Amino acid sequence: MIDLELGSEHEALVETLRDWGAKEVAPKVHDLDRAHRFEPDFIRQMAELQLLGICLPEEYGGAGMDYVSLGLACEELEYVDTHLRVIMSVHVGLNSMTLWCWGSEEQKQSYLAPQARGDRIATYGLTEPNAGSDAVGIQTTAVRRGDRYVLNGEKTWISLADVADHFLVIAWTDQEKKKKRDHSGMSAFIVERGFKGFSSYSLTEKWGILAGNTGGFSLQDVEVPVENRVGEEGEGFRIAMFALENGRYTVAAGATGLIRACRDASVRYAQGRETFGVPIGQHQLVKEMIAQMVSDYEASRLLWLQAGWMKNTGRRNTRETSLAKWFATVASERAAADAVQVHGANGYSDEYPVGRYYRNCKAAVIYEGSREVHKLMQADYALGYRRDKPRRVELPAYRG
Ligand SMILES: Cc1cc2nc3c(=O)[nH]c(=O)nc-3n(C[C@H](O)[C@H](O)[C@H](O)COP(=O)(O)OP(=O)(O)OC[C@H]3O[C@@H](n4cnc5c(N)ncnc54)[C@H](O)[C@@H]3O)c2cc1C
Repeated sequence: MIDLELGSEHEALVETLRDWGAKEVAPKVHDLDRAHRFEPDFIRQMAELQLLGICLPEEYGGAGMDYVSLGLACEELEYVDTHLRVIMSVHVGLNSMTLWCWGSEEQKQSYLAPQARGDRIATYGLTEPNAGSDAVGIQTTAVRRGDRYVLNGEKTWISLADVADHFLVIAWTDQEKKKKRDHSGMSAFIVERGFKGFSSYSLTEKWGILAGNTGGFSLQDVEVPVENRVGEEGEGFRIAMFALENGRYTVAAGATGLIRACRDASVRYAQGRETFGVPIGQHQLVKEMIAQMVSDYEASRLLWLQAGWMKNTGRRNTRETSLAKWFATVASERAAADAVQVHGANGYSDEYPVGRYYRNCKAAVIYEGSREVHKLMQADYALGYRRDKPRRVELPAYRG
């Protein structure tokens, strides 16, 4: 039986994060966003709150909580600002959960444990200047030379590119398969910022998630020890997709938090602002926008909770997570547009937070599988063109 009831540890987590977000982040986020400035101290505080290893086992430095806790944290963080949830998406969802499931024991000790404690920050490098949705179109190569691989390529639109210490990089190890676009020629690697030939930069023309860091990195003859290959040679594409399944879950829960932030700001404003002698909340067309936010919030929350429950119980959730991510991100765009509308001209000013929500929500409709990619996935499942194939490695059920 599906059980979506929150436990006392979930409620305590939510309370702690609401308190932290309201006291430590909310008062600063407007100025950081305006200044396009990333505040590294938030990462330190998130580490203290044990968020950076929230659903990872205690033996690897994690907090040992369940996957619903990860979703709850993402919802609460994005309620305050999207960039905090992005940290969770790349550090925990895309990178650390992947290392935990696919990494060797040595990799877990050397990379996962410091990441889970928050001593090292990690991200995920799949996208390239000419390949996003079409992951098989990447050009980065990894050529084996003795006990090392030599990596060459360019990755762009990478969250925390200028902040992270560790990068999960997807590259082609089989050049013949690359020519044939056969994804069984791809492999995954852990690259450290300190490796010779690695350099990163920040994107400066980005117009949303401005308190977050997004950039790219270049690999110029970067020598990576064989021990840093994650999984077997040829498993890179599968590992990349596995990572995205957990990343998408965090994005779905985060977008749900953004809808709630839109709803709360709109309710507050609609109760105070008067036109034609009554609060605007009394006008039916304003009620309609708020009602839509209410239903979008509840539906998005149920969808990510369903995916979280499936993760907790060890059920395959590729389809449900894709649906949660698609629905919640599209709904968050609708909620943010309407939140600006409810605020009238004031919504068009950064004196109110809704303009920031509007700018921040759009990226999630693009990354971790665009709206179109998820639409295609859902249609293909329904039509029977797509079926989940068994994987060598699965996310373990939550054992308590
Ligand atoms: C803020 C931000 C942070 C990011 N962080 C990361 C990160 O940390 N790591 C990382 O690897 N990447 C990251 N990305 C990159 C992101 O994953 C890609 O932008 C995404 O995969 C889309 O790729 P693209 O931008 O190349 O668009 P394209 O793939 O070129 O797509 C362009 C448009 O065409 C549509 N389209 C493409 N193919 C099809 C098709 N077959 N059918 C129908 N429509 C199609 C798309 O939906 C989209 O609307 C980030 C992006 C942003 C904006």
